[in-house]
Amino acid sequence: MQTLLNDIYTEVLPMLGQGKVANYIPALACVDPNQFGIAICDNRGEITKIGDADQEFSIQSISKVFSLIIAINNYGPELWNRVGREPSGLPFNSLVQLEYENGIPRNPFINAGALVVSDMNQSRFASPHLGMRDFVRRVSGHEDIFIDREVAESEYAHRSRNAAMAYLMKSFGNFENEVDDVLHNYFSACALRMSCVNMAKATNFLANRGYSLFSNEKVLSQDETSQVNALLATSGLYDEAGSFAFRVGLPGKSGVGGGIIAIVPGRFSICVWSPALNKMGNSLVGVAALESLTNRIGWSVY
Ligand code: GLU
Repeated sequence: MQTLLNDIYTEVLPMLGQGKVANYIPALACVDPNQFGIAICDNRGEITKIGDADQEFSIQSISKVFSLIIAINNYGPELWNRVGREPSGLPFNSLVQLEYENGIPRNPFINAGALVVSDMNQSRFASPHLGMRDFVRRVSGHEDIFIDREVAESEYAHRSRNAAMAYLMKSFGNFENEVDDVLHNYFSACALRMSCVNMAKATNFLANRGYSLFSNEKVLSQDETSQVNALLATSGLYDEAGSFAFRVGLPGKSGVGGGIIAIVPGRFSICVWSPALNKMGNSLVGVAALESLTNRIGWSVY
């Protein structure tokens, strides 16, 4: 496995410099784009890694996976009355479908869907973002995971579009709490900082039928784990989900911080990070590295 990662590292290094770091907030715009790391966690908890795999990055939309899991644990199938399970084929922050689909977002991974899920978690917990931080600490076995307040506040200062989505959903009756409270919690969750290593560990239960090796707990049932992986496969990379399935062939979730998780069900969880993004807002080198990895060893689930 280490030889494989060494080869991929050599292959993708010349690509660093392509793509553009997210620049909608200053705290993300100043990240050095020439970084790349990858970590693979097998279902015995062994880690293989290379590059900047211990460097922390802003997890951004990868947090949507954790908030979905917390909502599944608290609401069960009732959750699906308020958010759909279809790919959107549109950018992560699009509002258009909300207007003609009665304020029900297409899936939990586009921003509108993640905001509804955050709203549901807000109805159950006073500080859902702290609950999520504690959850990722537990399932990764790393206590040193923190929220970057500068990123969270900067996101809040640039909240107009997410606020617009939330208010539109409120007008359709699909939002229970004060929009500002939910936005604060949503941005704080996006602002968690994790490394590829602790992210690969934190998401390993998705490769392990819902069981976390690091907290020794059943986080999701086997069926729920398959369902989350199905949603990751169809919607985790927004309007690049089809091409990601074609090129990489694994359930995955990206974030504008440049991180991507990918799951090989029954075998491995993977986290790759490189901050420069392609036109769809996904890590350019990260997608290329995952493509090379899965093609070399035939890990596509399809
Ligand atoms: N915090 C970002 C937003 O809501 C997350 C977007 C992403 O990572 O795709 O705009």
